[in-house]
Amino acid sequence: MCKIYRIGIDAGGTKVAYGLFDKEGNLLDRVQHPSDLEADGPAFADQILDTVHTMMDRHSLKKEDLAGIGICMPSYILFDTGYIYLTSSLPKIRDFAMKAYLEERLPGVKIVLDNDSNGAALAEYRKGAGRGLCHMVYVAVSTGIGSGIIIDGKLFRGSYGWAGESGHMLATPDEGVLCGCRNRGCFMSYASGRYVPKHLKMRMLQGKESSMQLIENLSCEDLLQAYQENDELAIEMVESMAHYLAVCLYNCYMLLNINVFVFGGGLTNFGEALFGRVRKEFDKYDQIPLPVEFRFAELKKDFGIIGAAELVIE
Ligand SMILES: [Zn+2]
Repeated sequence: MCKIYRIGIDAGGTKVAYGLFDKEGNLLDRVQHPSDLEADGPAFADQILDTVHTMMDRHSLKKEDLAGIGICMPSYILFDTGYIYLTSSLPKIRDFAMKAYLEERLPGVKIVLDNDSNGAALAEYRKGAGRGLCHMVYVAVSTGIGSGIIIDGKLFRGSYGWAGESGHMLATPDEGVLCGCRNRGCFMSYASGRYVPKHLKMRMLQGKESSMQLIENLSCEDLLQAYQENDELAIEMVESMAHYLAVCLYNCYMLLNINVFVFGGGLTNFGEALFGRVRKEFDKYDQIPLPVEFRFAELKKDFGIIGAAELVIE
Protein backbone atom coordinates (compact mmCIF):
# COMPACT_ATOMS: atom_id res chain seq x y z
CA MET A 1 0.00 0.00 0.00
CA CYS A 2 1.81 3.09 -1.21
CA LYS A 3 0.78 6.48 -2.51
CA ILE A 4 -2.73 5.50 -3.45
CA TYR A 5 -4.92 7.81 -1.39
CA ARG A 6 -5.65 11.44 -2.09
CA ILE A 7 -7.04 14.13 0.16
CA GLY A 8 -9.00 16.97 -1.42
CA ILE A 9 -9.60 20.09 0.66
CA ASP A 10 -12.07 22.82 -0.28
CA ALA A 11 -11.36 25.84 1.92
CA GLY A 12 -13.83 28.68 1.48
CA GLY A 13 -15.21 31.61 3.38
CA THR A 14 -17.82 29.62 5.30
CA LYS A 15 -16.43 26.11 5.66
CA VAL A 16 -13.43 23.90 5.08
CA ALA A 17 -14.39 20.48 3.63
CA TYR A 18 -12.07 17.47 3.42
CA GLY A 19 -12.48 14.34 1.31
CA LEU A 20 -10.40 11.17 1.39
CA PHE A 21 -10.35 9.41 -1.98
CA ASP A 22 -8.97 6.05 -3.04
CA LYS A 23 -7.14 5.29 -6.29
CA GLU A 24 -10.41 4.86 -8.21
CA GLY A 25 -11.68 8.21 -6.98
CA ASN A 26 -14.21 6.78 -4.51
CA LEU A 27 -14.95 9.09 -1.61
CA LEU A 28 -14.07 7.15 1.56
CA ASP A 29 -14.48 9.83 4.17
CA ARG A 30 -15.72 13.40 4.35
CA VAL A 31 -15.48 15.91 7.18
CA GLN A 32 -15.89 19.67 7.44
CA HIS A 33 -15.55 22.45 9.94
CA PRO A 34 -16.53 26.13 9.84
CA SER A 35 -13.88 28.49 8.48
CA ASP A 36 -12.08 30.43 11.17
CA LEU A 37 -12.35 33.99 9.89
CA GLU A 38 -9.93 35.20 12.57
CA ALA A 39 -7.14 32.82 11.59
CA ASP A 40 -4.15 34.15 9.70
CA GLY A 41 -2.28 32.00 7.18
CA PRO A 42 -0.23 29.85 9.58
CA ALA A 43 -3.16 29.36 11.99
CA PHE A 44 -5.43 28.39 9.10
CA ALA A 45 -2.83 25.94 7.77
CA ASP A 46 -2.38 24.44 11.26
CA GLN A 47 -6.13 23.74 11.45
CA ILE A 48 -5.89 22.00 8.09
CA LEU A 49 -2.91 19.92 9.27
CA ASP A 50 -4.76 18.89 12.45
CA THR A 51 -7.79 17.74 10.52
CA VAL A 52 -5.68 15.90 7.95
CA HIS A 53 -3.81 14.04 10.70
CA THR A 54 -7.06 13.08 12.42
CA MET A 55 -8.43 11.78 9.11
CA MET A 56 -5.25 9.80 8.41
CA ASP A 57 -5.27 8.29 11.93
CA ARG A 58 -8.91 7.25 11.57
CA HIS A 59 -7.99 5.22 8.46
CA SER A 60 -4.59 4.08 9.77
CA LEU A 61 -2.83 5.88 6.93
CA LYS A 62 0.80 6.93 6.91
CA LYS A 63 2.30 9.75 4.87
CA GLU A 64 3.67 7.14 2.46
CA ASP A 65 0.12 6.04 1.65
CA LEU A 66 -0.78 9.44 0.26
CA ALA A 67 -0.43 10.31 -3.43
CA GLY A 68 -0.93 13.90 -2.37
CA ILE A 69 -3.12 16.59 -0.92
CA GLY A 70 -4.94 19.09 -3.14
CA ILE A 71 -6.27 22.33 -1.67
CA CYS A 72 -8.59 24.83 -3.32
CA MET A 73 -9.04 28.34 -1.99
CA PRO A 74 -10.71 31.54 -3.21
CA SER A 75 -7.30 33.18 -3.50
CA TYR A 76 -4.85 34.74 -5.88
CA ILE A 77 -2.18 32.03 -5.75
CA LEU A 78 1.19 32.08 -7.48
CA PHE A 79 0.70 28.53 -8.70
CA ASP A 80 4.31 27.36 -9.05
CA THR A 81 5.26 28.17 -5.47
CA GLY A 82 1.84 28.02 -3.81
CA TYR A 83 2.20 31.54 -2.42
CA ILE A 84 -1.09 33.26 -1.52
CA TYR A 85 -1.36 36.98 -2.26
CA LEU A 86 -4.99 37.59 -1.38
CA THR A 87 -8.02 35.57 -0.35
CA SER A 88 -11.31 37.23 -1.14
CA SER A 89 -13.52 35.81 1.62
CA LEU A 90 -10.74 35.20 4.19
CA PRO A 91 -8.98 38.59 4.27
CA LYS A 92 -6.47 37.56 6.95
CA ILE A 93 -5.00 34.92 4.68
CA ARG A 94 -2.68 36.94 2.50
CA ASP A 95 1.03 37.20 1.68
CA PHE A 96 1.55 33.65 2.91
CA ALA A 97 3.72 30.84 1.53
CA MET A 98 1.04 28.24 2.22
CA LYS A 99 2.42 25.39 0.12
CA ALA A 100 5.92 25.69 1.59
CA TYR A 101 4.45 25.87 5.10
CA LEU A 102 2.51 22.63 4.58
CA GLU A 103 5.38 20.84 2.82
CA GLU A 104 7.68 21.60 5.72
CA ARG A 105 5.24 19.93 8.11
CA LEU A 106 4.37 17.02 5.83
CA PRO A 107 7.74 16.20 4.24
CA GLY A 108 7.51 13.95 1.22
CA VAL A 109 3.80 14.56 0.63
CA LYS A 110 2.85 16.21 -2.66
CA ILE A 111 0.88 19.39 -1.99
CA VAL A 112 -1.01 21.21 -4.76
CA LEU A 113 -2.62 24.54 -3.99
CA ASP A 114 -4.91 26.21 -6.51
CA ASN A 115 -7.78 28.63 -6.94
CA ASP A 116 -11.26 27.22 -6.22
CA SER A 117 -12.62 27.92 -9.72
CA ASN A 118 -9.72 25.96 -11.23
CA GLY A 119 -10.51 23.01 -8.97
CA ALA A 120 -14.20 23.14 -9.86
CA ALA A 121 -13.35 23.35 -13.57
CA LEU A 122 -11.15 20.26 -13.32
CA ALA A 123 -13.86 18.36 -11.41
CA GLU A 124 -16.52 19.16 -14.03
CA TYR A 125 -14.10 18.45 -16.86
CA ARG A 126 -13.08 15.00 -15.61
CA LYS A 127 -16.21 13.85 -13.77
CA GLY A 128 -19.07 16.10 -14.78
CA ALA A 129 -20.55 18.19 -17.59
CA GLY A 130 -17.25 18.58 -19.47
CA ARG A 131 -16.35 14.89 -19.94
CA GLY A 132 -14.91 14.14 -23.35
CA LEU A 133 -14.42 17.75 -24.45
CA CYS A 134 -11.15 19.23 -25.70
CA HIS A 135 -11.74 22.75 -24.40
CA MET A 136 -14.16 24.15 -21.87
CA VAL A 137 -14.72 27.20 -19.68
CA TYR A 138 -16.24 26.65 -16.26
CA VAL A 139 -17.95 29.69 -14.77
CA ALA A 140 -18.93 29.84 -11.11
CA VAL A 141 -21.78 32.30 -10.66
CA SER A 142 -21.96 32.49 -6.92
CA THR A 143 -21.01 34.90 -4.13
CA GLY A 144 -18.53 36.12 -6.72
CA ILE A 145 -17.83 35.12 -10.32
CA GLY A 146 -14.77 33.12 -11.30
CA SER A 147 -13.86 30.73 -14.05
CA GLY A 148 -11.51 27.91 -14.86
CA ILE A 149 -10.21 27.40 -18.39
CA ILE A 150 -9.49 23.98 -19.85
CA ILE A 151 -7.45 23.97 -23.04
CA ASP A 152 -6.52 20.70 -24.77
CA GLY A 153 -7.62 18.78 -21.69
CA LYS A 154 -5.51 20.75 -19.23
CA LEU A 155 -6.11 23.65 -16.91
CA PHE A 156 -4.75 26.88 -18.33
CA ARG A 157 -3.41 29.04 -15.49
CA GLY A 158 -1.53 31.76 -17.32
CA SER A 159 1.81 33.22 -16.26
CA TYR A 160 1.12 33.50 -12.55
CA GLY A 161 -1.89 31.33 -11.86
CA TRP A 162 -5.01 33.44 -12.05
CA ALA A 163 -6.09 33.01 -15.64
CA GLY A 164 -9.87 32.86 -15.66
CA GLU A 165 -10.59 35.65 -13.18
CA SER A 166 -13.36 36.69 -15.54
CA GLY A 167 -15.40 38.21 -12.72
CA HIS A 168 -12.75 40.86 -12.20
CA MET A 169 -12.64 41.87 -15.83
CA LEU A 170 -13.87 45.45 -15.95
CA ALA A 171 -17.31 46.16 -17.36
CA THR A 172 -17.49 49.84 -16.36
CA PRO A 173 -13.96 50.84 -15.23
CA ASP A 174 -13.88 53.24 -12.26
CA GLU A 175 -17.68 53.37 -12.09
CA GLY A 176 -20.10 51.34 -10.05
CA VAL A 177 -19.85 49.28 -6.91
CA LEU A 178 -16.43 48.78 -5.28
CA CYS A 179 -15.31 45.15 -5.64
CA GLY A 180 -13.17 43.11 -3.22
CA CYS A 181 -10.31 43.43 -5.74
CA ARG A 182 -10.31 47.19 -4.99
CA ASN A 183 -11.57 48.19 -8.44
CA ARG A 184 -14.97 49.53 -9.38
CA GLY A 185 -17.09 48.14 -12.16
CA CYS A 186 -15.96 44.50 -12.33
CA PHE A 187 -18.42 42.14 -14.01
CA MET A 188 -18.97 40.36 -10.70
CA SER A 189 -20.08 43.63 -9.14
CA TYR A 190 -23.14 43.48 -11.45
CA ALA A 191 -24.03 39.82 -11.38
CA SER A 192 -22.94 37.98 -8.25
CA GLY A 193 -24.48 37.14 -4.90
CA ARG A 194 -22.37 39.53 -2.86
CA TYR A 195 -22.99 42.61 -4.99
CA VAL A 196 -26.44 42.33 -6.57
CA PRO A 197 -28.12 43.08 -3.21
CA LYS A 198 -26.10 46.33 -3.08
CA HIS A 199 -27.60 47.41 -6.40
CA LEU A 200 -31.07 46.46 -5.18
CA LYS A 201 -30.63 48.55 -2.03
CA MET A 202 -29.37 51.52 -4.04
CA ARG A 203 -32.40 51.35 -6.33
CA MET A 204 -34.77 51.13 -3.38
CA LEU A 205 -33.09 54.04 -1.62
CA GLN A 206 -33.58 56.02 -4.83
CA GLY A 207 -37.30 55.42 -4.34
CA LYS A 208 -37.90 52.44 -6.63
CA GLU A 209 -40.87 50.47 -5.29
CA SER A 210 -40.57 46.76 -4.72
CA SER A 211 -42.11 43.89 -2.80
CA MET A 212 -38.59 43.20 -1.47
CA GLN A 213 -37.78 44.57 1.96
CA LEU A 214 -34.92 47.02 2.38
CA ILE A 215 -33.14 44.86 4.95
CA GLU A 216 -29.48 44.50 5.86
CA ASN A 217 -29.16 40.88 4.74
CA LEU A 218 -31.20 41.14 1.55
CA SER A 219 -30.08 38.20 -0.60
CA CYS A 220 -30.34 36.77 -4.08
CA GLU A 221 -32.90 34.27 -2.74
CA ASP A 222 -35.12 37.25 -1.93
CA LEU A 223 -34.49 38.54 -5.43
CA LEU A 224 -35.45 35.22 -7.04
CA GLN A 225 -38.64 35.02 -5.02
CA ALA A 226 -39.61 38.58 -5.93
CA TYR A 227 -38.80 37.81 -9.57
CA GLN A 228 -41.15 34.84 -9.51
CA GLU A 229 -43.85 37.14 -8.14
CA ASN A 230 -43.32 39.51 -11.08
CA ASP A 231 -41.82 42.31 -9.01
CA GLU A 232 -40.76 45.05 -11.40
CA LEU A 233 -37.45 45.87 -9.71
CA ALA A 234 -36.58 42.17 -9.48
CA ILE A 235 -37.18 41.69 -13.21
CA GLU A 236 -35.11 44.78 -13.98
CA MET A 237 -32.26 43.45 -11.82
CA VAL A 238 -32.29 39.95 -13.35
CA GLU A 239 -32.24 41.54 -16.82
CA SER A 240 -29.24 43.61 -15.80
CA MET A 241 -27.44 40.57 -14.36
CA ALA A 242 -28.11 38.63 -17.58
CA HIS A 243 -26.79 41.51 -19.66
CA TYR A 244 -23.47 41.76 -17.80
CA LEU A 245 -23.03 38.00 -17.63
CA ALA A 246 -23.66 37.70 -21.36
CA VAL A 247 -21.15 40.44 -22.17
CA CYS A 248 -18.59 38.78 -19.89
CA LEU A 249 -19.13 35.40 -21.59
CA TYR A 250 -19.07 36.91 -25.05
CA ASN A 251 -15.74 38.58 -24.29
CA CYS A 252 -14.37 35.23 -23.05
CA TYR A 253 -15.65 33.56 -26.20
CA MET A 254 -13.99 36.17 -28.40
CA LEU A 255 -10.71 35.86 -26.53
CA LEU A 256 -10.54 32.07 -26.28
CA ASN A 257 -12.98 30.82 -28.90
CA ILE A 258 -13.98 28.00 -26.57
CA ASN A 259 -17.53 26.94 -27.37
CA VAL A 260 -18.68 25.18 -24.19
CA PHE A 261 -19.44 27.09 -21.01
CA VAL A 262 -20.32 25.10 -17.88
CA PHE A 263 -22.10 27.04 -15.14
CA GLY A 264 -21.81 26.21 -11.47
CA GLY A 265 -22.37 28.07 -8.23
CA GLY A 266 -25.35 29.10 -6.15
CA LEU A 267 -26.92 31.46 -8.66
CA THR A 268 -27.55 28.60 -11.08
CA ASN A 269 -30.73 28.12 -9.01
CA PHE A 270 -32.10 31.07 -11.00
CA GLY A 271 -32.23 28.57 -13.89
CA GLU A 272 -33.96 29.80 -17.05
CA ALA A 273 -34.97 33.07 -15.39
CA LEU A 274 -31.35 34.19 -15.56
CA PHE A 275 -29.61 31.82 -17.96
CA GLY A 276 -32.38 31.89 -20.57
CA ARG A 277 -31.88 35.64 -20.72
CA VAL A 278 -28.09 35.24 -20.76
CA ARG A 279 -28.51 32.95 -23.79
CA LYS A 280 -30.61 35.49 -25.67
CA GLU A 281 -28.22 38.35 -24.86
CA PHE A 282 -25.17 36.30 -25.83
CA ASP A 283 -26.75 35.31 -29.14
CA LYS A 284 -27.54 38.93 -29.85
CA TYR A 285 -23.80 39.72 -29.85
CA ASP A 286 -22.61 36.51 -31.51
CA GLN A 287 -22.67 37.11 -35.26
CA ILE A 288 -21.26 33.76 -36.39
CA PRO A 289 -23.77 30.91 -36.84
CA LEU A 290 -21.73 28.22 -35.11
CA PRO A 291 -22.80 26.43 -31.92
CA VAL A 292 -21.85 27.74 -28.48
CA GLU A 293 -23.12 25.49 -25.72
CA PHE A 294 -24.26 26.53 -22.26
CA ARG A 295 -24.41 23.67 -19.77
CA PHE A 296 -25.04 23.43 -16.06
CA ALA A 297 -22.52 21.70 -13.79
CA GLU A 298 -23.39 18.09 -13.00
CA LEU A 299 -21.53 17.48 -9.76
CA LYS A 300 -23.41 18.30 -6.60
CA LYS A 301 -22.13 19.46 -3.23
CA ASP A 302 -18.82 17.55 -3.30
CA PHE A 303 -17.42 19.21 -6.44
CA GLY A 304 -14.98 21.25 -4.33
CA ILE A 305 -13.26 18.32 -2.66
CA ILE A 306 -13.38 16.27 -5.88
CA GLY A 307 -11.67 19.06 -7.80
CA ALA A 308 -9.06 19.53 -5.08
CA ALA A 309 -8.26 15.80 -5.12
CA GLU A 310 -8.08 15.80 -8.94
CA LEU A 311 -5.38 18.48 -8.81
CA VAL A 312 -3.04 15.88 -7.33
CA ILE A 313 -3.15 13.74 -10.49
CA GLU A 314 -2.83 16.53 -12.99
ZN1 LIG B 1 -13.14 42.86 -8.89
